[in-house]
Amino acid sequence: MLLIGTINITRTRERGDFHCPTCGTGREYLLKSRRPFLTLYFIPTVPIGGVEYFVRCSGCGANWDPAILRIEPAAMREQQAINFGIEAFRAAVLTALASGVISENQIRALLRISARLLPTPIDREQLGQLCSSAYQNRITAANYVRSVSGPWTTEQRQFALQAMFVAASAKGAALDDATIRLLASLRELLRLTDREYQDAVEAAIDWEVD
Ligand SMILES: [Zn+2]
Repeated sequence: MLLIGTINITRTRERGDFHCPTCGTGREYLLKSRRPFLTLYFIPTVPIGGVEYFVRCSGCGANWDPAILRIEPAAMREQQAINFGIEAFRAAVLTALASGVISENQIRALLRISARLLPTPIDREQLGQLCSSAYQNRITAANYVRSVSGPWTTEQRQFALQAMFVAASAKGAALDDATIRLLASLRELLRLTDREYQDAVEAAIDWEVD
């Protein structure tokens, strides 16, 4: 008796990193190919269908269409840019609060900054809520920047620095020691070179002209 059957042969073609929607974070993926073969006495002989590709998450084992590798990097960048804006704005709010008192001019500056950083600018009331929750949490601007700036690009770190400078200098009066110490520590906190720091501060001066 001739024993005939079929078998799917699966091979790993490529590995890399992708954003797994199930895991909700970056994971290693395996790009796999699958092709059905005719078997004779359980030995694969001739292919009887085309090659199909799929992507498997090494974290959770979920399978995805390879299209996910093309779509996700762009979506991921978009999400990262949104997160950055929210975080940089919060850093600017905390900078304005570093002296303990926030001036009317700083409130107006923060509202303008929100238009640059947030997907939708916030109003005075929302800013008030953000300030009071930031004040109650007692997380300093420096520690906040340390916690969130890891994934920021150099350009984003410079942009955040500008927002913080604008928020601090809008005070109008001479800056207090706490704020000056904070601004001086930002070069190291944001891992910027002297040149990158200086360029960003110079660009911050242009922000205020409006
Ligand atoms: Zn996963």
